[in-house]
Amino acid sequence: MTSRANPNRMPALFLAHGNPMNALADNTFTRGLTALAGDLPRPKAVLVVSAHWQTRGTHVLSSANPRTIHDFGGFPEELYEVQYPAAGSPEFAACVCELIPEARADDAWGLDHASWSILRHMWPDADVPVFELSLDATVPTAVHWELGTKLAPLRDAGVLVVGSGNIVHSFAGISWEPDAPAKLWAEEFDAWIADAVSRRDRDALVNYESAGTMARLSVPTDEHYLPLLYAAAMSDENDEVTFTHIGIDMSSMSMRCVRFG
Ligand code: ZN
Repeated sequence: MTSRANPNRMPALFLAHGNPMNALADNTFTRGLTALAGDLPRPKAVLVVSAHWQTRGTHVLSSANPRTIHDFGGFPEELYEVQYPAAGSPEFAACVCELIPEARADDAWGLDHASWSILRHMWPDADVPVFELSLDATVPTAVHWELGTKLAPLRDAGVLVVGSGNIVHSFAGISWEPDAPAKLWAEEFDAWIADAVSRRDRDALVNYESAGTMARLSVPTDEHYLPLLYAAAMSDENDEVTFTHIGIDMSSMSMRCVRFG
């Protein structure tokens, strides 16, 4: 219980991002992000495990002044004008390289929209340092969980780790109609994962494909799902698990957000 006595101890988060236009929106999801940030101890830095940074091997963003990356196409001009000029954190990037010796410092990447589209609602002044961890696209799902466990000491160092993705992320199922109903398989898989998250059930979360058809439809590619594993793996039995936002956008985009601790 000594960890509870550390006022710097951070929860671990999994945050949905979904449609990049959420960066500019004012809705229940974005207001939830703002409220969540107000409820957290102030982080020394934020490490985002990004669905939008896939690499061979694990990379850690080490730039002192990361650029804002607009990694999408076909959106209104105002979205491309957004800048999120947070400082980086070369110091904590070096810590990550100690915790994960095979990780490689990378100062060429920047902050992609998995970071800034949510962080601008949480720290609009960009006054908390931010860096990113990539997803190694070459390793099995279980390895992502193992990497997450290695990041756990960051919580006591005052670093907020945010997995940024979506539990259900299917372009095939998307509807652009306003208030389109959720696909049944999207709701069912989101609920199946929520149950596993509540129990911090490592085997169910790693072997999510055992959920069958609903898993195949909900996770056609795994890059938006995997950030959840990092946050869950950093959790322990003392952590309360809270869903800070729940919902399915655009028929097949789970906006469920999870706070561990
Ligand atoms: Zn995304």
